[in-house]
Amino acid sequence: MFTALRRAVLRLLVLASVAAPQVSLAQQHFNGAKALEYARQFVALGPRWPTNPGHLKAEEFLRKQFLHDQLEEDTFTANTPIGPVAMRNFIVRFPGKKPGVIVLSTHYETNYPLRNIGFVGANDGGSTTGLLLAIADQLRGKTLDGYSIWLVFFDGEEAIQTWSQSDSTYGSRHLAAKWGRDGTLGKIKAFLLADMIGDKDLDIQRESQSTDWLVDLVRQAAHKFGYDRYFFQTEESVEDDHLAFLARGVPSIDVIDLDYGPHNSYHHTAQDTMDKISVRSLTIDGDVFMETIRLIDQR
Ligand SMILES: [Zn+2]
Repeated sequence: MFTALRRAVLRLLVLASVAAPQVSLAQQHFNGAKALEYARQFVALGPRWPTNPGHLKAEEFLRKQFLHDQLEEDTFTANTPIGPVAMRNFIVRFPGKKPGVIVLSTHYETNYPLRNIGFVGANDGGSTTGLLLAIADQLRGKTLDGYSIWLVFFDGEEAIQTWSQSDSTYGSRHLAAKWGRDGTLGKIKAFLLADMIGDKDLDIQRESQSTDWLVDLVRQAAHKFGYDRYFFQTEESVEDDHLAFLARGVPSIDVIDLDYGPHNSYHHTAQDTMDKISVRSLTIDGDVFMETIRLIDQR
């Protein structure tokens, strides 16, 4: 992911340190601890940049998690600045009663240019992989009343050399094009992307290009739990895996926290480690995504 235009914004840092919202005992919350545990196991596999044996370990991990689900492995060859690179998206389908699909996605690989610094992407790729695995646990083994939910784990989100339209988001560009050709895109009611939202100091920006009505539903979902202050206090434009879908007319949102550590110092550095992400942030994310899905179903 890349910020084309980082807006100068007044950060009200005090907001992040005030008391947690009231958690009603009656209110069912998402299992953020489980999401964190999945992220921990996944990140413990080590760096997982494309072409690295660690990437194969990450693939095997995902394959095992979805052994009894409708898993599709979408393999393709990306043309990159270092030549052709084999890549693999994972798509897991949970059928619903309503015709139509909600896609919830993340990227799972780590950054190739950072391969020499031991970059493990605990937040960047790891946290949201854990989040989607815990969401899968909620969806598995029941018939969903609403739309089908497809979880997508993209490969090749990061640039291989330097971020550009042709050197980035390989997995999402490949899948959006493929689903455009075979008609699948027409079934997708909403495309939700989660990126870097395991951050302990959660402040999710409103991504400028995201579809307005989806932004409104996410805001509404956050409000239900008293999470308003974690969402959309600032706005910026971010290039990410949602753009290939947005460009093809699929309503899409990037739920992203692009403010990671003091002056963003943990982003794309060796500082992106498990101690920087929290159960609480993943609980907030899970609550809001599950509620957003409910709201899309009712729409
Ligand atoms: Zn990244």
